[in-house]
Amino acid sequence: MSITIKTPEQITILREAGKHHARILNELEKMVVPGVTAIELDAIAEEKVRAIGAEPSFLHYQPDHTYPLYPASLCVSINEEIVHGIPTAEMIVKDGDIVSIDLGLKYKGMFTDSARTVIVGNTSKEKKQLVYDTREALMRGIEAAQVGNTVGDIGYAIESFNNKRYGNVRELSGHGVGLAVHEDPYVPNYGKKGSGAKLKPGMVLAIEPMFNLGASDVVFHDDGYTVSTRDGMVSAHVEHTVLITEQGPEILTEL
Ligand code: MG
Ligand code: MG
Repeated sequence: MSITIKTPEQITILREAGKHHARILNELEKMVVPGVTAIELDAIAEEKVRAIGAEPSFLHYQPDHTYPLYPASLCVSINEEIVHGIPTAEMIVKDGDIVSIDLGLKYKGMFTDSARTVIVGNTSKEKKQLVYDTREALMRGIEAAQVGNTVGDIGYAIESFNNKRYGNVRELSGHGVGLAVHEDPYVPNYGKKGSGAKLKPGMVLAIEPMFNLGASDVVFHDDGYTVSTRDGMVSAHVEHTVLITEQGPEILTEL
């Protein structure tokens, strides 16, 4: 598949979808408190998505035929879980946790993707800094998403901001988005300046750094989805859907 350029009509819908997405994540974030279960968060996410006439795009998603259907609307990844945690009733949020909530929307036929990592209550200084730095890395990656730059420039910006302070996950990456949950190109969180596809106006990318407090090695779980750190150290993950424009990157999934 080649990289798609969105039409002005599609961009109008994506802008609208992104605002809804940001508002839903803002509301969900406030519900990530000690005692809440991942399955409760998932149910609330689904309800909020359907309330705006959208569909949860992760529900029953299948990256390819080797995967089971994803059974939820939200990915909830707690502490050492990096991404794609399947919400269950046994996953109970505790004081001191860091919790990634990742949501996909399908709104008027168009797809947006965004994630936050929430710091719950009293967390260690190191874990907080990990979350702040992962958020900053996302902003550095977005700043690099300029017309004429390449996908490699985004990864380079993220990796150089990391500067070997954290494990930088290499098995998972950002991606094109907008007409489907996942589109070309892959947007890795590492890269060489000037390498990979050139960025053009109308491209839409999900940029999503994942930094680990320990090493970068990951474990893929038997459930087919959950990915966690091999060493059991905590991980943070944040994501925005970003439109490439002549005037610079436009974050769609923020208010
Ligand atoms: Mg996502
Ligand atoms: Mg994504």
